[in-house]
Amino acid sequence: MTSSPIPYGRQQIDQHDIDAVVAVLGAEFLTQGPVVGQFEQALATYCGAQHAIAVNSATSALHIACLALGVGPGDIVWTSAITFVASANCAIYCGASVDFVDIDPVSYNMSVPQLREKLETARKAGKLPKVVIPVHMTGQSCDMQSIHQLGQEFGFKIIEDASHAVGARYQGKAVGCGRYSDITVFSFHPVKIITSGEGGMALTNDELLARSLRRLRSHGLTGNAPEMDPRPEDELWNYQQVELGFNYRITDIHAALGLSQMRHLDDFVRARNDLARRYDELLVNLPLSTPAQASDSYSSYHLYVVRLSLPQIRKTQKEVFRELHARGIMVNLHYIPVYLQPFYQRMGFARGQCPEAERYFKEALSIPLYPGLTREAQDRTIATLSEVLQG
Ligand SMILES: *Cc1c(COP(=O)(O)O)cnc(C)c1O
Repeated sequence: MTSSPIPYGRQQIDQHDIDAVVAVLGAEFLTQGPVVGQFEQALATYCGAQHAIAVNSATSALHIACLALGVGPGDIVWTSAITFVASANCAIYCGASVDFVDIDPVSYNMSVPQLREKLETARKAGKLPKVVIPVHMTGQSCDMQSIHQLGQEFGFKIIEDASHAVGARYQGKAVGCGRYSDITVFSFHPVKIITSGEGGMALTNDELLARSLRRLRSHGLTGNAPEMDPRPEDELWNYQQVELGFNYRITDIHAALGLSQMRHLDDFVRARNDLARRYDELLVNLPLSTPAQASDSYSSYHLYVVRLSLPQIRKTQKEVFRELHARGIMVNLHYIPVYLQPFYQRMGFARGQCPEAERYFKEALSIPLYPGLTREAQDRTIATLSEVLQG
Protein backbone atom coordinates (compact mmCIF):
# COMPACT_ATOMS: atom_id res chain seq x y z
CA MET A 1 0.00 0.00 0.00
CA THR A 2 1.34 3.43 -0.90
CA SER A 3 0.12 6.29 1.23
CA SER A 4 -0.07 9.86 0.04
CA PRO A 5 2.30 12.52 1.32
CA ILE A 6 1.24 14.41 4.45
CA PRO A 7 1.85 18.17 4.06
CA TYR A 8 2.94 20.35 6.99
CA GLY A 9 -0.22 22.41 6.58
CA ARG A 10 -3.22 22.76 4.34
CA GLN A 11 -6.58 24.48 4.04
CA GLN A 12 -9.94 22.96 4.90
CA ILE A 13 -12.78 23.93 2.56
CA ASP A 14 -16.39 22.79 2.87
CA GLN A 15 -19.48 23.10 0.68
CA HIS A 16 -20.59 26.28 2.47
CA ASP A 17 -17.28 27.93 1.50
CA ILE A 18 -17.74 26.87 -2.12
CA ASP A 19 -21.35 28.08 -2.19
CA ALA A 20 -20.33 31.43 -0.69
CA VAL A 21 -17.76 32.00 -3.46
CA VAL A 22 -20.13 30.87 -6.21
CA ALA A 23 -22.82 33.22 -4.89
CA VAL A 24 -20.51 36.20 -5.39
CA LEU A 25 -19.76 35.11 -8.96
CA GLY A 26 -23.45 35.49 -9.74
CA ALA A 27 -23.85 38.76 -7.84
CA GLU A 28 -23.53 42.41 -8.92
CA PHE A 29 -19.98 43.11 -7.64
CA LEU A 30 -16.94 40.88 -8.02
CA THR A 31 -14.78 43.35 -6.13
CA GLN A 32 -15.43 46.28 -3.78
CA GLY A 33 -18.93 44.97 -3.16
CA PRO A 34 -20.65 44.32 0.16
CA VAL A 35 -18.76 41.18 1.18
CA VAL A 36 -15.41 42.87 1.85
CA GLY A 37 -17.09 45.06 4.47
CA GLN A 38 -18.89 42.06 5.98
CA PHE A 39 -15.60 40.16 6.29
CA GLU A 40 -13.96 43.20 7.90
CA GLN A 41 -16.83 43.69 10.32
CA ALA A 42 -16.88 40.00 11.27
CA LEU A 43 -13.19 39.89 12.13
CA ALA A 44 -13.20 43.29 13.89
CA THR A 45 -16.08 42.07 16.07
CA TYR A 46 -14.40 38.72 16.70
CA CYS A 47 -11.19 40.43 17.84
CA GLY A 48 -12.81 43.32 19.65
CA ALA A 49 -11.09 45.93 17.43
CA GLN A 50 -12.65 49.17 16.20
CA HIS A 51 -11.51 49.05 12.58
CA ALA A 52 -10.50 46.36 10.09
CA ILE A 53 -9.13 46.95 6.59
CA ALA A 54 -9.00 43.91 4.30
CA VAL A 55 -6.34 43.73 1.58
CA ASN A 56 -5.02 41.22 -0.95
CA SER A 57 -2.29 39.80 1.35
CA ALA A 58 -0.70 40.19 4.75
CA THR A 59 2.38 41.45 2.91
CA SER A 60 0.30 44.36 1.54
CA ALA A 61 -1.17 44.94 5.01
CA LEU A 62 2.33 45.13 6.53
CA HIS A 63 3.43 47.58 3.83
CA ILE A 64 0.54 50.00 4.31
CA ALA A 65 0.72 49.57 8.09
CA CYS A 66 4.32 50.84 7.97
CA LEU A 67 3.31 53.72 5.69
CA ALA A 68 0.34 54.66 7.87
CA LEU A 69 2.71 54.88 10.84
CA GLY A 70 4.91 57.24 8.85
CA VAL A 71 7.79 54.90 8.03
CA GLY A 72 9.95 56.35 5.27
CA PRO A 73 13.54 56.89 4.16
CA GLY A 74 15.87 57.41 7.10
CA ASP A 75 13.62 55.49 9.49
CA ILE A 76 14.48 52.20 11.18
CA VAL A 77 12.16 49.22 11.68
CA TRP A 78 12.96 46.17 13.79
CA THR A 79 11.45 42.73 13.59
CA SER A 80 12.23 39.23 14.81
CA ALA A 81 15.14 37.29 13.28
CA ILE A 82 12.92 34.21 12.92
CA THR A 83 9.99 35.15 10.71
CA PHE A 84 8.80 35.08 7.13
CA VAL A 85 10.68 37.58 4.96
CA ALA A 86 7.59 39.79 4.53
CA SER A 87 7.87 41.03 8.14
CA ALA A 88 11.14 42.72 7.17
CA ASN A 89 10.53 43.50 3.50
CA CYS A 90 7.66 45.86 4.38
CA ALA A 91 10.16 48.31 5.87
CA ILE A 92 12.41 48.12 2.81
CA TYR A 93 9.40 48.89 0.56
CA CYS A 94 9.09 52.20 2.46
CA GLY A 95 12.75 53.09 1.93
CA ALA A 96 13.48 52.50 5.61
CA SER A 97 16.21 50.27 6.97
CA VAL A 98 15.55 47.12 8.92
CA ASP A 99 17.26 45.32 11.78
CA PHE A 100 16.61 42.08 13.64
CA VAL A 101 16.10 41.18 17.28
CA ASP A 102 17.12 37.74 18.51
CA ILE A 103 14.51 35.23 19.66
CA ASP A 104 13.56 33.85 23.04
CA PRO A 105 14.95 30.29 23.30
CA VAL A 106 11.67 28.93 24.69
CA SER A 107 8.86 30.65 22.76
CA TYR A 108 10.87 31.44 19.57
CA ASN A 109 9.25 34.89 19.70
CA MET A 110 11.17 38.15 19.84
CA SER A 111 13.19 38.13 23.06
CA VAL A 112 12.17 40.97 25.38
CA PRO A 113 15.55 41.15 27.20
CA GLN A 114 17.34 41.22 23.83
CA LEU A 115 14.96 43.93 22.62
CA ARG A 116 15.63 46.06 25.70
CA GLU A 117 19.39 45.65 25.39
CA LYS A 118 19.31 46.54 21.70
CA LEU A 119 17.11 49.58 22.42
CA GLU A 120 19.53 50.86 25.05
CA THR A 121 22.44 50.52 22.64
CA ALA A 122 20.42 52.18 19.87
CA ARG A 123 19.44 55.09 22.10
CA LYS A 124 23.09 55.83 22.80
CA ALA A 125 23.83 55.74 19.09
CA GLY A 126 20.75 57.86 18.25
CA LYS A 127 19.37 55.04 16.10
CA LEU A 128 16.12 54.07 17.76
CA PRO A 129 13.51 52.29 15.63
CA LYS A 130 10.33 54.11 14.64
CA VAL A 131 8.38 50.87 14.47
CA VAL A 132 8.91 47.40 15.97
CA ILE A 133 7.15 44.42 14.39
CA PRO A 134 6.86 41.49 16.82
CA VAL A 135 5.74 38.25 15.16
CA HIS A 136 3.47 35.76 16.94
CA MET A 137 5.55 32.81 15.88
CA THR A 138 3.56 29.58 15.30
CA GLY A 139 0.43 31.32 16.67
CA GLN A 140 1.62 31.99 20.23
CA SER A 141 1.44 35.65 21.20
CA CYS A 142 4.63 37.52 22.00
CA ASP A 143 4.98 39.08 25.45
CA MET A 144 3.06 42.09 24.17
CA GLN A 145 2.61 43.78 27.53
CA SER A 146 6.39 44.04 27.96
CA ILE A 147 6.96 45.07 24.35
CA HIS A 148 4.29 47.75 24.73
CA GLN A 149 6.00 49.05 27.89
CA LEU A 150 9.27 49.30 25.98
CA GLY A 151 7.38 51.13 23.23
CA GLN A 152 6.26 53.73 25.78
CA GLU A 153 9.75 54.02 27.20
CA PHE A 154 11.66 54.23 23.91
CA GLY A 155 8.98 55.86 21.76
CA PHE A 156 8.36 53.33 19.02
CA LYS A 157 5.09 52.22 17.41
CA ILE A 158 4.08 48.57 17.21
CA ILE A 159 2.72 46.46 14.36
CA GLU A 160 1.84 42.92 15.46
CA ASP A 161 2.55 40.48 12.64
CA ALA A 162 -0.20 38.06 13.64
CA SER A 163 -0.15 36.20 10.32
CA HIS A 164 0.04 32.94 12.31
CA ALA A 165 -2.29 33.98 15.08
CA VAL A 166 -5.87 34.66 14.01
CA GLY A 167 -8.02 32.90 16.62
CA ALA A 168 -5.26 33.00 19.27
CA ARG A 169 -5.68 34.66 22.66
CA TYR A 170 -3.38 36.56 25.00
CA GLN A 171 -4.20 37.56 28.58
CA GLY A 172 -7.77 36.41 27.96
CA LYS A 173 -8.33 38.64 24.90
CA ALA A 174 -8.26 37.88 21.19
CA VAL A 175 -5.02 38.63 19.37
CA GLY A 176 -6.00 41.61 17.23
CA CYS A 177 -7.81 43.53 19.98
CA GLY A 178 -5.01 46.10 19.83
CA ARG A 179 -4.55 46.51 23.55
CA TYR A 180 -0.75 46.62 23.22
CA SER A 181 -0.16 47.73 19.63
CA ASP A 182 -1.09 50.26 16.97
CA ILE A 183 -1.94 47.85 14.15
CA THR A 184 -2.34 44.06 13.95
CA VAL A 185 -1.94 42.17 10.66
CA PHE A 186 -3.47 38.79 9.76
CA SER A 187 -2.80 36.53 6.74
CA PHE A 188 -5.33 34.35 4.95
CA HIS A 189 -2.88 32.40 2.80
CA PRO A 190 -4.12 28.78 2.47
CA VAL A 191 -1.61 27.35 4.96
CA LYS A 192 -2.67 29.83 7.65
CA ILE A 193 -5.54 29.38 10.13
CA ILE A 194 -8.38 30.52 7.86
CA THR A 195 -8.02 31.30 4.17
CA SER A 196 -9.38 33.61 1.50
CA GLY A 197 -7.07 32.17 -1.19
CA GLU A 198 -4.81 35.18 -0.90
CA GLY A 199 -5.69 37.90 1.55
CA GLY A 200 -4.82 39.83 4.66
CA MET A 201 -6.27 42.30 7.12
CA ALA A 202 -5.05 45.20 9.23
CA LEU A 203 -6.87 45.94 12.49
CA THR A 204 -6.58 49.10 14.55
CA ASN A 205 -8.45 51.09 17.18
CA ASP A 206 -7.19 54.41 15.79
CA GLU A 207 -9.64 56.15 13.47
CA LEU A 208 -6.98 58.19 11.66
CA LEU A 209 -4.80 55.13 11.06
CA ALA A 210 -7.87 53.31 9.74
CA ARG A 211 -8.59 56.12 7.27
CA SER A 212 -4.98 56.14 6.15
CA LEU A 213 -4.95 52.34 5.68
CA ARG A 214 -8.15 52.56 3.59
CA ARG A 215 -6.68 55.24 1.33
CA LEU A 216 -3.36 53.44 0.90
CA ARG A 217 -5.19 50.22 -0.03
CA SER A 218 -6.70 52.00 -3.03
CA HIS A 219 -4.27 54.42 -4.76
CA GLY A 220 -4.40 57.06 -1.99
CA LEU A 221 -7.96 57.90 -3.03
CA THR A 222 -10.71 59.19 -0.79
CA GLY A 223 -14.31 60.21 -1.33
CA ASN A 224 -14.66 61.43 2.23
CA ALA A 225 -14.98 65.27 2.18
CA PRO A 226 -13.00 65.99 5.38
CA GLU A 227 -9.99 64.16 3.87
CA MET A 228 -10.23 66.11 0.57
CA ASP A 229 -8.71 69.45 -0.50
CA PRO A 230 -11.25 72.26 -0.97
CA ARG A 231 -12.08 73.02 -4.65
CA PRO A 232 -14.09 75.70 -6.49
CA GLU A 233 -17.85 75.31 -5.96
CA ASP A 234 -18.58 74.70 -9.65
CA GLU A 235 -16.06 71.85 -10.15
CA LEU A 236 -17.21 68.28 -9.72
CA TRP A 237 -14.83 66.41 -7.38
CA ASN A 238 -16.37 63.34 -5.84
CA TYR A 239 -13.01 61.76 -5.08
CA GLN A 240 -9.41 62.86 -4.78
CA GLN A 241 -6.01 61.27 -4.68
CA VAL A 242 -4.47 62.84 -1.59
CA GLU A 243 -1.37 60.64 -1.30
CA LEU A 244 0.40 57.80 -3.13
CA GLY A 245 -1.34 54.49 -2.52
CA PHE A 246 -1.58 51.12 -4.23
CA ASN A 247 -4.10 48.68 -5.59
CA TYR A 248 -4.04 46.29 -2.65
CA ARG A 249 -7.80 45.66 -2.68
CA ILE A 250 -9.18 42.23 -1.93
CA THR A 251 -12.03 41.02 -4.14
CA ASP A 252 -15.52 40.08 -2.96
CA ILE A 253 -14.76 36.58 -4.25
CA HIS A 254 -11.85 36.19 -1.85
CA ALA A 255 -13.66 37.96 0.99
CA ALA A 256 -16.61 35.57 0.61
CA LEU A 257 -14.28 32.63 1.20
CA GLY A 258 -12.65 34.37 4.18
CA LEU A 259 -16.01 35.28 5.71
CA SER A 260 -17.35 31.76 5.25
CA GLN A 261 -14.18 30.31 6.81
CA MET A 262 -14.72 32.42 9.91
CA ARG A 263 -17.62 30.14 10.89
CA HIS A 264 -14.97 27.51 11.59
CA LEU A 265 -12.27 29.68 13.14
CA ASP A 266 -12.76 28.51 16.73
CA ASP A 267 -13.18 24.87 15.65
CA PHE A 268 -10.03 25.00 13.53
CA VAL A 269 -8.01 26.41 16.41
CA ARG A 270 -9.44 23.88 18.85
CA ALA A 271 -8.63 21.02 16.46
CA ARG A 272 -5.07 22.33 16.09
CA ASN A 273 -4.72 22.52 19.89
CA ASP A 274 -6.05 18.98 20.33
CA LEU A 275 -3.60 17.62 17.75
CA ALA A 276 -0.78 19.58 19.38
CA ARG A 277 -1.60 18.10 22.82
CA ARG A 278 -1.50 14.64 21.25
CA TYR A 279 1.90 15.34 19.70
CA ASP A 280 3.14 16.67 23.07
CA GLU A 281 2.22 13.35 24.68
CA LEU A 282 3.30 10.95 21.96
CA LEU A 283 6.62 12.60 21.09
CA VAL A 284 7.81 12.72 24.66
CA ASN A 285 10.37 9.91 24.36
CA LEU A 286 11.93 11.04 21.08
CA PRO A 287 15.22 12.96 20.88
CA LEU A 288 13.54 16.31 20.28
CA SER A 289 11.84 19.08 22.22
CA THR A 290 8.20 20.00 21.76
CA PRO A 291 6.97 23.62 21.80
CA ALA A 292 6.43 25.25 25.20
CA GLN A 293 3.35 27.35 25.83
CA ALA A 294 3.10 30.38 28.11
CA SER A 295 0.29 30.27 30.67
CA ASP A 296 -1.25 33.59 29.56
CA SER A 297 -1.42 32.49 25.92
CA TYR A 298 -3.77 30.31 23.86
CA SER A 299 -1.98 29.55 20.61
CA SER A 300 -3.72 29.15 17.27
CA TYR A 301 -1.01 26.56 16.47
CA HIS A 302 -0.38 27.57 12.89
CA LEU A 303 2.77 25.46 13.19
CA TYR A 304 4.04 22.67 15.40
CA VAL A 305 7.79 23.15 15.55
CA VAL A 306 10.01 20.47 17.08
CA ARG A 307 13.68 21.01 17.83
CA LEU A 308 15.94 18.07 17.16
CA SER A 309 18.30 17.04 19.97
CA LEU A 310 21.09 16.56 17.45
CA PRO A 311 23.72 15.16 19.86
CA GLN A 312 21.35 12.21 20.42
CA ILE A 313 20.65 11.66 16.71
CA ARG A 314 23.13 10.07 14.32
CA LYS A 315 21.99 12.35 11.48
CA THR A 316 22.09 15.98 10.48
CA GLN A 317 18.97 18.15 10.37
CA LYS A 318 19.17 18.02 6.58
CA GLU A 319 19.33 14.21 6.53
CA VAL A 320 16.33 14.01 8.85
CA PHE A 321 14.43 16.45 6.61
CA ARG A 322 15.25 14.44 3.47
CA GLU A 323 14.43 11.05 4.97
CA LEU A 324 11.09 12.32 6.24
CA HIS A 325 10.27 13.74 2.80
CA ALA A 326 11.29 10.47 1.14
CA ARG A 327 8.74 8.76 3.38
CA GLY A 328 5.99 11.24 2.63
CA ILE A 329 6.16 13.35 5.78
CA MET A 330 6.51 16.81 4.25
CA VAL A 331 8.10 18.66 7.14
CA ASN A 332 9.30 22.21 6.58
CA LEU A 333 11.63 24.76 8.17
CA HIS A 334 10.10 27.95 9.60
CA TYR A 335 12.31 29.87 9.25
CA ILE A 336 15.82 30.59 8.07
CA PRO A 337 16.92 33.74 9.99
CA VAL A 338 15.83 36.53 7.65
CA TYR A 339 19.20 38.29 7.74
CA LEU A 340 20.90 35.16 6.37
CA GLN A 341 18.85 35.45 3.16
CA PRO A 342 21.14 36.48 0.27
CA PHE A 343 19.21 39.75 -0.20
CA TYR A 344 19.88 40.74 3.42
CA GLN A 345 23.43 39.36 3.40
CA ARG A 346 24.16 41.77 0.56
CA MET A 347 23.04 44.60 2.89
CA GLY A 348 25.90 43.61 5.18
CA PHE A 349 24.22 41.60 7.95
CA ALA A 350 26.76 39.30 9.52
CA ARG A 351 26.33 35.68 10.49
CA GLY A 352 26.33 35.42 14.28
CA GLN A 353 24.19 38.52 14.87
CA CYS A 354 21.37 36.54 16.56
CA PRO A 355 22.93 33.40 18.07
CA GLU A 356 19.66 32.01 19.46
CA ALA A 357 17.94 32.36 16.08
CA GLU A 358 20.87 30.60 14.39
CA ARG A 359 20.76 27.73 16.90
CA TYR A 360 17.02 27.41 16.33
CA PHE A 361 17.52 27.39 12.55
CA LYS A 362 19.86 24.38 12.84
CA GLU A 363 17.42 22.31 14.91
CA ALA A 364 13.86 23.26 13.99
CA LEU A 365 11.38 21.33 11.85
CA SER A 366 7.66 22.01 11.41
CA ILE A 367 5.78 18.72 11.43
CA PRO A 368 2.29 18.28 9.91
CA LEU A 369 -0.49 20.16 11.71
CA TYR A 370 -3.83 21.22 10.25
CA PRO A 371 -7.47 20.68 11.25
CA GLY A 372 -8.02 17.90 8.71
CA LEU A 373 -4.99 15.88 9.87
CA THR A 374 -6.46 12.49 10.73
CA ARG A 375 -5.41 10.45 13.73
CA GLU A 376 -4.00 7.85 11.31
CA ALA A 377 -1.92 10.48 9.50
CA GLN A 378 -0.71 11.87 12.80
CA ASP A 379 0.22 8.37 13.99
CA ARG A 380 2.08 7.74 10.74
CA THR A 381 3.94 11.02 11.23
CA ILE A 382 4.96 10.04 14.77
CA ALA A 383 6.00 6.51 13.76
CA THR A 384 8.06 7.76 10.81
CA LEU A 385 9.69 10.45 12.92
CA SER A 386 10.56 7.83 15.51
CA GLU A 387 12.15 5.53 12.89
CA VAL A 388 14.11 8.31 11.23
CA LEU A 389 15.41 9.84 14.46
CA GLN A 390 16.32 6.54 16.08
CA GLY A 391 17.48 4.71 12.94
C1 LIG B 1 2.47 34.22 5.76
C2 LIG B 1 3.16 35.31 6.46
C3 LIG B 1 3.21 36.62 5.97
C4 LIG B 1 2.72 36.99 4.61
O1 LIG B 1 1.41 36.63 4.39
P1 LIG B 1 0.80 36.75 2.92
O2 LIG B 1 -0.69 36.83 3.20
O3 LIG B 1 1.19 35.50 2.20
O4 LIG B 1 1.32 37.97 2.29
C5 LIG B 1 3.81 37.59 6.74
N1 LIG B 1 4.35 37.31 7.93
C6 LIG B 1 4.35 36.05 8.44
C7 LIG B 1 4.95 35.80 9.78
C8 LIG B 1 3.77 35.02 7.72
O5 LIG B 1 3.80 33.78 8.19
